[in-house]
Amino acid sequence: MGDERTDLKGMPLGELESFFRSRGKERYRARQVSRWLYQRGAEEFSVMTDLSRGFREEMEAVCRISAPPAEKGEISLDGTEKVLFRLEDGEGVESVLIPEGSRRTLCVSTQAGCALSCAFCATGALGFRRNMTSAEIIHQACHAARRLAGRQERLTNVVFMGMGEPLENVREVSRAIDILLAPCGFGLAGKRVTVSTVGIIPAMRELASRYPVSFAVSLNAAGEEVRSRLMPVNRKYPLRELVAAMREIPLQSGRKVTAEYVLLAGVNDSPGEARDLARLLSGARIKVNLIPFNPHDHGDFRPPPPSSVDRFRDILMAAGIQTITRDRRGADIRAACGQLRGVPAHPREHGGLRSGATASSKKG
Ligand code: SAH
Repeated sequence: MGDERTDLKGMPLGELESFFRSRGKERYRARQVSRWLYQRGAEEFSVMTDLSRGFREEMEAVCRISAPPAEKGEISLDGTEKVLFRLEDGEGVESVLIPEGSRRTLCVSTQAGCALSCAFCATGALGFRRNMTSAEIIHQACHAARRLAGRQERLTNVVFMGMGEPLENVREVSRAIDILLAPCGFGLAGKRVTVSTVGIIPAMRELASRYPVSFAVSLNAAGEEVRSRLMPVNRKYPLRELVAAMREIPLQSGRKVTAEYVLLAGVNDSPGEARDLARLLSGARIKVNLIPFNPHDHGDFRPPPPSSVDRFRDILMAAGIQTITRDRRGADIRAACGQLRGVPAHPREHGGLRSGATASSKKG
C-alpha cells in the first residue's frame, strides 16, 4: 500500500540493466539480481549475499521484490497441486503444478477473470477483472520453483493455460516469457513454454515472431457456427482464418502447433465433427489435444462418454492426425482445465480465508 519503490520482480534482464544503469550501477548487477530473483526465488535483498551490504541497503531504499501471498494450497489425489494467490488489490488467481513422470509443469494465470465468455469455461463466467502484471505472472513460477527446490525437484515446463487469455495481455505475458527463457532467468527452452490462446490472430503472429515458444490454440469446434456459439471471439477471428494462421506459425523441425478441443456431449463430439476437424487440419503440422469437458457449477454442459471420446480420437488418428486425450488432472480439487475461478474449491471445508477474500468471485 503506497509503496513507491520500484518492483524488480517481473523485470526481464534488459529492464534490470536499464534500471541499474539509471542508478549509476554496473551492468553485471542486473545479471546477479536476475539470478537471485528467478533462479533462487529471493524475496528480499538481505539474502543476496554476493552483493555488498552497502549495495543491498541502497537497493532496499529504492526497490522492492513483490511476492503475493499464497493463501491456500490444495493437493489432488493424483499429485496435482493448486495454489491460490491473493494479489495486492485483493484479486484471487490460481496456478496449478502438475507432476508427470520427470516433468514438473506449472499452469499459470495471466488475468484475474477473463473477458472472452467462452460458454463452457468457469473462468469466463467470472467476467473480466484485470490484467496481471509480469511480476504477478512470474511470481507463480518463482513460488513453484521454490517449493520444488525444497524437494530437490525443478520446474521443467510452463503452460499459459490458467485463468485469463494470455494474448489479451501480450505486453505483460511477453515480459514473463522473456524471463522464463532467459539463461539468467528460468533458462527454459522454448518448447517447454506453451502459450494457450483462443486465437487472437495478430497477437499470436507477433508473439510467434519474437519468441520460440510453443502454441496451443483452443479450437473447440470444427465449424464456424458451433464455434461462434461456444466462443464469441470466433466472430472476430473465425476458425478458417485461425487455422490458416496456425499453419503459418514458424516451427522448429519436428515440432507442431497444438489444437485444443474441449469435447462437449451432444455439442461438438459427433463423428461428423471429427471428420470435419480432420479435413480442416489435414496436411498441417498440427496435433490435437482432446479435453473431455471438466464439469463445474456454471452452465450445463456434460462430458461425452469415454466411448465417444475414443471414437472421436480414432477418426482423427485414422486421418493421420496425432491425437491425445488430455488427462483430467486435478479435477477433484477443481484444478483441471476450465475449472479455475480464483476461489477455493471447498471454501467451507478449508476455511481460513480473510474476509473479503472472495472479492473476485460473483458466486463462489
Ligand atoms: N484462454 C486460453 C487459456 C486458458 S483455457 C485458452 O482459451 O486457450 C485452457 C484450455 O481449457 C482451453 O483449451 C479451453 O478451451 C479449455 N477449457 C475451458 N473450460 C473447460 C472445461 N470446463 N473443461 C475442459 N476444458 C476447458
